[in-house]
Amino acid sequence: MTTPLILTQRMEDHPADSHLLDRYESTGGYGVMRKVLKSMTPEQVIEEVKAANIQGRGGAAFPAGIKWGFLAPAEPRYLVVNGDESEPGTFKDRQLLERDPHQLVEGVIISSFALGVNHAFIYIRGEYPKPARRVQQAVEAAYDKGYLGQNILGSGFDLDVTVHLGGGAYICGEETALLNSLEGLRGEPRLKPPFPAVEGLYAKPTIVNNVETISNIPWIVENGGIAFAAIGDDMSVGTRMFSLSGHVKKPGNVEVPMGLTWRELIYEIGGGIRDDKELKTWVPGGASAPWFVPDLHLDVKVTKDDVAHAGSMLGSGAVIVMDEDTNVVAAAHRIVKFFAHESCGQCTPCREGTTWLENILWRLLNGAGRPSDIDLLLDVCDNISPGLAWPPKMTTICPLGPSAVSPITSIMTHFREEVEAMVVAEVTNA
Ligand code: SF4
Repeated sequence: MTTPLILTQRMEDHPADSHLLDRYESTGGYGVMRKVLKSMTPEQVIEEVKAANIQGRGGAAFPAGIKWGFLAPAEPRYLVVNGDESEPGTFKDRQLLERDPHQLVEGVIISSFALGVNHAFIYIRGEYPKPARRVQQAVEAAYDKGYLGQNILGSGFDLDVTVHLGGGAYICGEETALLNSLEGLRGEPRLKPPFPAVEGLYAKPTIVNNVETISNIPWIVENGGIAFAAIGDDMSVGTRMFSLSGHVKKPGNVEVPMGLTWRELIYEIGGGIRDDKELKTWVPGGASAPWFVPDLHLDVKVTKDDVAHAGSMLGSGAVIVMDEDTNVVAAAHRIVKFFAHESCGQCTPCREGTTWLENILWRLLNGAGRPSDIDLLLDVCDNISPGLAWPPKMTTICPLGPSAVSPITSIMTHFREEVEAMVVAEVTNA
C-alpha cells in the first residue's frame, strides 16, 4: 500500500448494541450536543462545518457548510435528512441508520441548532423497515431523556424530529422529489430554481443533507473542522464510507480516508477479486457513474476531483466490482432496466429514452441484435445527454435520465467489440 491507512473500519465490526442510547452515551455520545447547547453559538457551529469542508455524502458532493450558508432567513425553516438510499449497490446509510441511530440524532440536534431549525425530518427509504424502527426508537429515547422537545437541557432551544418512511421510489432520493413526497404529493423532482434552501418543504427554507453527512457533524464539532479537513486529500477531505460489492473477496461497508487509490480500495480493503480472477471493470460511484477499467484507472486517487478528471464520479459511494467473466452488456442492461423502471415520467428523453435503451440491450442479449442497434443505442443516448459529455448536459429536470446513459457509454468505450459481437446479421424479407 502506498498510503498508510489511518482509519479503516468495517461497519459490521460495530458492537451488537451500538444502536442503544446507553451504549452510545457510554462512549461519550450526546456530549457534543451538551457542549454546543451550553457554550457555542449557531455561528460557531457553522464555522466548524465550513472549516471541515465536508462534501455532501449523498452523491452530489456539494460542500455542506456552503449549502448551509444558502439557507434563506425566513421562518420556519426545516432540516430534512435524506435517508432514501436507493442507488443500486449503495447500502452505507442503511448501516448508519441501523447501527448508529443516536449518532445521527445527535447530528440532527447540533445541525438544527446551528441552522435555527425547530422541526427536523428524517426521511427513510420504504424498504428499510428495520433501520427506520431503530431510528424511531432512538428519537423516542432522546425525547425521554430531554434531548428533544421543548427547552432542551434548559438551553431554550426547542426541536421536534419526525421520522418518515418513504413509499419505495428511487426518485425520492432526489431532494425535491423527496420534499414532494414528504408533503404527500407524487414523488417527482421539481424544476430548480428555486432551490430548497430558499423554497423547500412547505415552500419554506430547507436544508436537505444525507445521513452520512449529518452523522459526521458531532465528530467535526467535537474535534474541530480543521482536524476533519486534515484527514484525506487536499480537496476531498475526511473519511468516507464506501459500499463494496460484486466480485471482491471482502464485500461490505468500509470507512476510509479520502485520497487512497482504487487499487488500494479494491485489492487491499476489498481483498482483491473473488477466486483470484482478473478485474474487468468497476462502477466507482453508484449505478449513475461511468465505469472504470484497470488499465486506465487503478491508480487514480479516490477523490471527487481525481475521479471527475478521469471521467466519472464518486456519487453515492457504491463500488460495484466485476471480474473477467462478467457479461458487460448484461450488466449494463440490468442497470438501464432499473432506471427505466424508476423514471418518474415527467421528461420525454428520460421516460422514452430509458425504455428504448432497455429494449435495444435486451435484443442484443437475446440474439436479436441488429447492426443498426449500435448506432441506435448511441443516438438515443445522445438525445438524453447531448454530446455524451461528462458531466452530462441536461435535457431533463433531474439527473436520472442521463444516469441511464453512463453504462451504455461505458461499454461502448471500453468493450465495444463485445457489444458488436452480439449483433446478428440484419434479417430481411428479400
Ligand atoms: Fe422524472 Fe426522469 Fe425527468 Fe428525472 S429525468 S424528472 S426521473 S422523467
